[in-house]
Amino acid sequence: MSLHQVKKNRHRDKNVNMVKNTLTTFELVLSEYRRYQKGLNLAYLYPSINGHCACGCGNVLDGRKTKWSSRECNNKVYSEFAILKGNTNAIRKKLFEIDNGFCRNCGVYDESWEADHINPVSMGGGLCGIDNFQTLCLYCHKEKTKNQTASHR
Ligand SMILES: [Zn+2]
Ligand SMILES: [Zn+2]
Repeated sequence: MSLHQVKKNRHRDKNVNMVKNTLTTFELVLSEYRRYQKGLNLAYLYPSINGHCACGCGNVLDGRKTKWSSRECNNKVYSEFAILKGNTNAIRKKLFEIDNGFCRNCGVYDESWEADHINPVSMGGGLCGIDNFQTLCLYCHKEKTKNQTASHR
């Protein structure tokens, strides 16, 4: 699921909400300027597709499957969803698979590495997939944060 698709869904959702605004008290509020997306749920991002896997892989649902065609599809989607939602564990797990704890700025391995938003949340980098995250060592992360704060003054 791309960010574009998320935005499209949200737009569609808004229209739906306007039509039945007397029926629903729940409104999903997503923001690129927030680190966590509280109301975001899996069913919203990946609605069931009749007869086919909801992940979009195109596989036909056989047997008694109702949503995902395989455990892999289910896991992949859950990881993407948790990352978009801002779940720290999911972000760190995925990022470690990619960077193995090596700082993308200076190349040094740091066992207390941090997950950095490449485009900061304050600049609209929230509500993002793993492609907006990078591993930084404590030193480089501090430096980056310092420079960002300075450029905001
Ligand atoms: Zn699938
Ligand atoms: Zn570094």
